[in-house]
Amino acid sequence: MNTSLSDSELTRYDRQMMIPDWGKDGQKKLKEATVLVAGTGGLGCPVSLYLAAAGVGRLVLVDKDKFELSNLNRQILGWQENIGQAKAEAVAKKLVALNPNVKIDAHATTIREDNVAELLNGANVVVDAMDNWTTRFLLNQECVNQDKPLVHAGIYGLNGQVTTIIPRKGPCLRCILPDTPREISTFPVIGATPGLFAMLQVMEVLKLIVGFGETLVGRLLLFDGERMDYASTSVQRRNNCPVCSDI
Ligand SMILES: [Zn+2]
Repeated sequence: MNTSLSDSELTRYDRQMMIPDWGKDGQKKLKEATVLVAGTGGLGCPVSLYLAAAGVGRLVLVDKDKFELSNLNRQILGWQENIGQAKAEAVAKKLVALNPNVKIDAHATTIREDNVAELLNGANVVVDAMDNWTTRFLLNQECVNQDKPLVHAGIYGLNGQVTTIIPRKGPCLRCILPDTPREISTFPVIGATPGLFAMLQVMEVLKLIVGFGETLVGRLLLFDGERMDYASTSVQRRNNCPVCSDI
């Protein structure tokens, strides 16, 4: 691998490189990697913050919205001064301030059928940090098309779910949810819920890139914050899945 790490990078990432199976080689893999973070809201803010801190080489942030006051209880990189600013661009500025080694591509745009392929182009891993099912299934379809891992999370109130999709190795999102759930535009949520699930997504992304540990492929991890209870349930491919059955 031609990528090298500077002295300051070796210092910055020292503690994580101490993890067995990580080391300098793992850190170089991260530096060479591109992660697409779809949505820079409740999930996407902490996801992108921790991926930048960990030294992912390039982050592609996509979010069409601007920060509003009612976002600030949970979209933790949206501060008072950012109200009215495009989320992807305001978040990008903070990530560069945290870690100038990371390249950020910020897109203040909607993820659509006519741009999803291009947005995913070059990404090694895609993070589903969306708040609607239409876009989630669009990302799922394109990840299957481009044979890329998709780390999904969804939240509501104090509860949520997370799983990792690797085409061919396990079920896709459509296998897990053959019927599209009802869209709810405004739902209850505290900031800690997306914070928690974002961290689980980050762990999955880092393991996928560095190449160690076990991921949530074929498993759906559910957490109920009101009861402080979690469950991991097995999920399987469907041989009649309209998205992934013929791959
Ligand atoms: Zn499927």
